[in-house]
Amino acid sequence: MVKRNPTAFLGEEVKSLKEKNLFWHVRVLDSASKPRAIVEGKKVILLNSNNYLNLATHPKVVAAAVAATQKWGAGAGAVPVISGTNRLERDFEEKLAKFKGVESALVCQTGFAVNAGLIPQLAGQGDVIISDELNHGSIIDGVRLTKAERAVYKHADAEDLRVKLKEADGKGVRRILVITDGVFSMDGDIAPMPQIVEACEEYGAMVFVDDCHGEGVLGKGRGIVSHFKLQGRVHVEGGSLGKGFGTFGGTICGSRDLIEFAFNKSRTWLLSTAQPPSVMGASIAALDVIETEPQHVENLWKNTEYFKKRANEIGFDTGMSQTPIIPLMIRDSGKAQEMARIVFDRGVFATPIVYPMVAQDKARIRAQMNAGLTTEDLDEALAAFEYAGRKVGVL
Ligand SMILES: *Cc1c(COP(=O)(O)O)cnc(C)c1O
Repeated sequence: MVKRNPTAFLGEEVKSLKEKNLFWHVRVLDSASKPRAIVEGKKVILLNSNNYLNLATHPKVVAAAVAATQKWGAGAGAVPVISGTNRLERDFEEKLAKFKGVESALVCQTGFAVNAGLIPQLAGQGDVIISDELNHGSIIDGVRLTKAERAVYKHADAEDLRVKLKEADGKGVRRILVITDGVFSMDGDIAPMPQIVEACEEYGAMVFVDDCHGEGVLGKGRGIVSHFKLQGRVHVEGGSLGKGFGTFGGTICGSRDLIEFAFNKSRTWLLSTAQPPSVMGASIAALDVIETEPQHVENLWKNTEYFKKRANEIGFDTGMSQTPIIPLMIRDSGKAQEMARIVFDRGVFATPIVYPMVAQDKARIRAQMNAGLTTEDLDEALAAFEYAGRKVGVL
């Protein structure tokens, strides 16, 4: 018999992560997630939240969550197919479909669950999935669960996609599924959807855009498909309610066939408890706010333009950013981490993004804009970045 210590690897792995500087020290928020927040007792300007429209603390959204809990209780009770979908969830799905201009919508547990559950059902043996090389990890995991062949095209490169489509077509595969992020979370650039859709239409490929960072942000809040006026030409839109909507959950939008297929086949949907009523009540209110209070989306973009312009004037390279995700490219991992520490001391909470999330020489500090930030907040943050940038020698 082999003598085994069943758990020794846990401590060894943790030690190794710490030695390699890859261990996540998770900070604790001592306030709501909002532009001026409290982190571990310290007042900070929060520049690393996906709560783009500042709806997580919007009074109407919070009140709707409380009211839904009082009326419908704290938990859903079961997975929807066993014990029913809550009325609020169905109402939200109908409102979302109308808002996005699609036939039908489905609420899932999370954006991650959308990809892990749906992708393996859309393509299998004898099919090919073609992905952008910088797609989100949850897409990569969804693709890992299929028996389909995989191909990867160069980031946001519709010409390279065409090459991969031609290869797949030449093999006489049954189905071709093309998947891309809408907004790329590390660089803040936007997928070239018109060119992607055109190429896919030529080859009869299915188009799936994971628009988690575009929901609430692009297309007056309606997302990337609306931004590019591609309604009816993108077959699957995946989304998250945890970002621009300020609540929680995942969404699938598309044809009625797609949605009925999804809730009959997606294993994450079938096997995981439905959303709590509070989340659905809050999401209905958030959708209503996005439709009736356009100032939030407007402020978000105003802040985005201001911050990017000032950061460039100071001398920072903001890479490929086209959205409220604005990376300050530092390149060296150690300097990026050091800068994040310096600005945190000066009351700015922004996250260094280092290997393995990005390539070794592409470390950065990622600043994310929020509709609730004021010009004074942005100036204060920029001053901290400028100070830190000089201190570590990147300016
Ligand atoms: C955030 C994100 C997800 C995960 O969404 P959650 O609702 O947080 O699970 C999936 N895909 C992309 C592209 C994302 O940015």
